[in-house]
Amino acid sequence: MTMRDTDRALVQAASAVAKLRCRSAAHTLAAAARTADGRVVSAVNVVHATGGACPEVVAIGTAVTQGVGALETIVTVGDRGRTLVTPCDACRQLLGDLFPSLRVIIGPLDTPRVVPITDLPPTTPH
Ligand SMILES: [Zn+2]
Repeated sequence: MTMRDTDRALVQAASAVAKLRCRSAAHTLAAAARTADGRVVSAVNVVHATGGACPEVVAIGTAVTQGVGALETIVTVGDRGRTLVTPCDACRQLLGDLFPSLRVIIGPLDTPRVVPITDLPPTTPH
């Protein structure tokens, strides 16, 4: 799938959140998602011994809280916005179940690409 200008903007949004808000061991990843109507929601993960939550899960909750529904595209970044992170297997399942046509931005930060949620490569948990 082709990277659109809005996809690049989404990467920038997630990177900005990571730089601003991921400043402790409790918050290490940020996600930004664009909704079908063009709104952008962002979120950070929560790391805790009890399990915490991935940023993708928090982003879904944030979108619902703000009254927006279907997510169209999502990206997750780590390392204070310096790397793109592929959603973990649990998030892949969750996102695919809720949003079967979701687009996911992955790959190196300097050459990102968009893949359908159904075509994500295998990952390890984060
Ligand atoms: Zn996850």
